[in-house]
Amino acid sequence: MAEEFVTRFAPSPTGYLHIGGARTALFNWLLAKHNGGKMLLRIEDTDRARSTQDAVDALIDGLTWLELDWDGEPVSQFGRVERHREVVDQMLASGAAYRCYATAEELNQMREEQRAAGLPPRYDGRWRDRDPSEAPDGVAPAIRLKSPLDGETVVEDEVQGRVVFPNKDLDDLVIMRSDGTPTYMLAVVVDDHDMGVTHIVRGDDHLTNSAKQKLIYQSLGWTIPSMAHIPLIHGPDGAKLSKRHGALGAEAYREMGYLPAAMRNYLARLGWSHGDEEIMSTEDMIKWFGLGSVGKSPSRFDFKKLENLNGHYMRATDDAELLKHWKVYLAHVDGGKPILDWILANEAIALGALPGLKERAKTLVELTESASYLWRQRPLDLDEKAEKILDEDARNILRDLAEILNGVSEWNAEPLETAVKAYAESKELKLGKVAQPLRAALTGRGTSPGIYDVLVALGREESIGRISDQARG
Ligand code: GLU
Repeated sequence: MAEEFVTRFAPSPTGYLHIGGARTALFNWLLAKHNGGKMLLRIEDTDRARSTQDAVDALIDGLTWLELDWDGEPVSQFGRVERHREVVDQMLASGAAYRCYATAEELNQMREEQRAAGLPPRYDGRWRDRDPSEAPDGVAPAIRLKSPLDGETVVEDEVQGRVVFPNKDLDDLVIMRSDGTPTYMLAVVVDDHDMGVTHIVRGDDHLTNSAKQKLIYQSLGWTIPSMAHIPLIHGPDGAKLSKRHGALGAEAYREMGYLPAAMRNYLARLGWSHGDEEIMSTEDMIKWFGLGSVGKSPSRFDFKKLENLNGHYMRATDDAELLKHWKVYLAHVDGGKPILDWILANEAIALGALPGLKERAKTLVELTESASYLWRQRPLDLDEKAEKILDEDARNILRDLAEILNGVSEWNAEPLETAVKAYAESKELKLGKVAQPLRAALTGRGTSPGIYDVLVALGREESIGRISDQARG
């Protein structure tokens, strides 16, 4: 039987799914799908102060919105603490780890002396080979890994290539604190091993950790998973990603009106490429994804690109699907509730208006703004441009149009357009002279989706009503 292919996403709950984390999740997900494997989810919730239920829910919510699913139940790292302790005991018994009774004061003093001597701060191994019978009374020991003193640890990274760490630089790291809590470094290794993870993909800020983790694997005689450390995301100016640059949670992108498919495509291109392809369906990305084409240098986050890509996805998404995302957006954005209620009560109208709306909108924010003519109440309030358009001549035109359009037997774009054009010709008016007042009356705005789309979406009664509201009596 072929070996199972298992990746995992292992976020620490911070209160949201950070955009860098979202990309890490996506890469793990694509890699698993490409190889017919699984992606597991492990919540690294050992920091109890930060790991509130809300913070965990926010991670799940972000992944769910991005439609990145995982196999099985999410694993809680904190929930596995007994297993971590068991492994520590096993390491103590085999001699792979030892008890260190150095007090905090002693360790501080040791570091200060090293600093004064211009040496890098390192644990000096004072308890490494000491007889436990020398243990001081009343001091709870920390447990340290007995790391090799010389030689090197080599990480064959799928993205970074061969990375060499001289063992003398790797401390006898603490695997369990004196209060009995296992450290992150140990927990990650035990969890990845027990979960059967074969491929680790994570941010390159974890690269040094991978050498330390490799030492733990070796001391336990466990198979080391394949590792890939992907470069972090930077801002458009090359500096570390800041909030202003887009270092936000997934929910912020939802509120900015982006579609999950566009986000996936955009995030995949942040660091990975397939030839010159910019627009890739999720199926294509799964087919093409591989760590070999992940770049080594940080990629730059660019809102303009994301927006353009999103505009493409808005146009390409079918109406029913787009309506679904629109509702999700409205359910999460401030002030979205009354609009959502209107859509739920007028679903056919909203759906009918979408073809006209999506052509012009780069985001769901823009789409909502240009759709607002749908739910505005008569008599419409006019924006400045509409006010200007609706002068006396325009209001006379509207009086004619109310009558003419009411006479159109089939309320469809084509006959409506024919009627409006015929009227403009008969009055020797440019089409704009007729269409602009119509737009202003129907939408209360100087700009709007195509005027025939608007007429159709509003229906006969509402359209004639709005035109009559502004027509000269
Ligand atoms: N919990 C770590 C983080 O959120 C990731 C650890 C890992 O992927 O090994 O940065």
